[in-house]
Amino acid sequence: MRVNVSSHDLKVSDHAHHFHPFTDHGALGVDERRVISRADGVWLWDTDGNRIMDGMAGLWCVNVGHGRNEIVEAVRAQMSELAYYNTFFKTSHPPVIELSEKIAEIAPDHMNMVVYGSSGSDANDTVFRMVRTYWDVMGKPEKKVIISRKNAYHGSTVAGASLGGMGGMHGQGGLPVPGIHHIDQPYWFGEGMKTGMSEEEFGIWAARELDRAIEEMGEDKIAAFIAEPIQGAGGVIVPPASYWPEVKKILEARDILFVSDEVICGFGRTGEWFGADYYGTKPDFMPIAKGLTSGYLPLGGVIISDRVKEVFHRSEAGEFYHGYTYSGHPAACAAALANLEIMKRENLVGRVKNDIGPFMQKLWAELGEHDLVGEARMVGLVGALELVPQKSDLSRRFDNVGRVGTIARDHSFKNGLVMRAVRDSLIISPPLVMSEEEASEMAATAKKTLDDTW
Ligand code: PLP
Repeated sequence: MRVNVSSHDLKVSDHAHHFHPFTDHGALGVDERRVISRADGVWLWDTDGNRIMDGMAGLWCVNVGHGRNEIVEAVRAQMSELAYYNTFFKTSHPPVIELSEKIAEIAPDHMNMVVYGSSGSDANDTVFRMVRTYWDVMGKPEKKVIISRKNAYHGSTVAGASLGGMGGMHGQGGLPVPGIHHIDQPYWFGEGMKTGMSEEEFGIWAARELDRAIEEMGEDKIAAFIAEPIQGAGGVIVPPASYWPEVKKILEARDILFVSDEVICGFGRTGEWFGADYYGTKPDFMPIAKGLTSGYLPLGGVIISDRVKEVFHRSEAGEFYHGYTYSGHPAACAAALANLEIMKRENLVGRVKNDIGPFMQKLWAELGEHDLVGEARMVGLVGALELVPQKSDLSRRFDNVGRVGTIARDHSFKNGLVMRAVRDSLIISPPLVMSEEEASEMAATAKKTLDDTW
């Protein structure tokens, strides 16, 4: 690594050679970028000498906080023992075996097997192929359609972006691929309020969109329904309380698979190990990534239910022609094992449920009183503030292209707190280890940000 390079020179080089994800490159000037060079706990430092709170846990992933040397040591030890070997062709290795066992322990009782990749996106590619192959093996090859939701995010590979419901992403590269049907989302503040229904009625209506789609296309054509327990990248959309119980009823009555995308909600974010635990759903597939290693190394995968496992173990299933060179990478598995060990020892899931979660939710609700905020919502430690031009008339909204959200997000950065803007809302998803003092500082900085934006 180069040393003694000025912050400006780093930015010039970044501008010249680094193509960033999800970035309007033409609009990103050299000096607008931030170069993050160090982190500890909930704190980040940039190369301009600023200390900033990481309100997004990196990208919804650094659940155990930054700078945990225990994970670094576990990875170092694993790398000197066995830095890489594959899990193809009848081979395995100790860390992937131990990790699979540990994941089975924390997953819902009926889910006991894991297939690995390196990210949430490739986990959803695996899901895409597995749900269809499942029905092929079951002798129902016509069951191919996967129902998803508008404004869902399931990654940015071809299958991930197709499963997702982001219009902008579909517009690039001719997506979605055929066989994916997007239904309405349970977004009360954005969609439900203007319908004249109560929140409860709207939740049931949105759930029944699933049933209507199944009826319309025919149950014999539908392979699966995929959904995030709480839509994360779509804007931390917490569904009305009536939504998941109604979806559950529909799924119980229908012969289709259910995929709970746990890439954000998994590993304690909601105050349970998985979002499916929080909402009491019974998935067949749970794509995981992010909090699995707290982002220390890339690792993703899909936890599968016993009924899916049984079908893939049948002799007629034969070989499933799928896998990645880095499926179950030993060093990444070692990082995940150390991460899970920390989560258990420090009772982070319980902490989010009973201590720091409720503490932060109270502060967040207080921000909801601000004149610029139309709704403040938070489950566990993931939340959003919907910004509005006139609190007394919630039918009035900003233009929804995200201009005000972006301004607020930039103020937040300047004030020393990373929040994310989704349209005209501000999003937060901090490390689960944050102290009460840090939570208070985070809320105070968010309040200053709202004042500056107002
Ligand atoms: N699924 C969900 C719910 C996500 O939020 C994300 C990323 O934010 C993904 C999948 C894709 O994960 P990755 O960015 O690791 O490919």
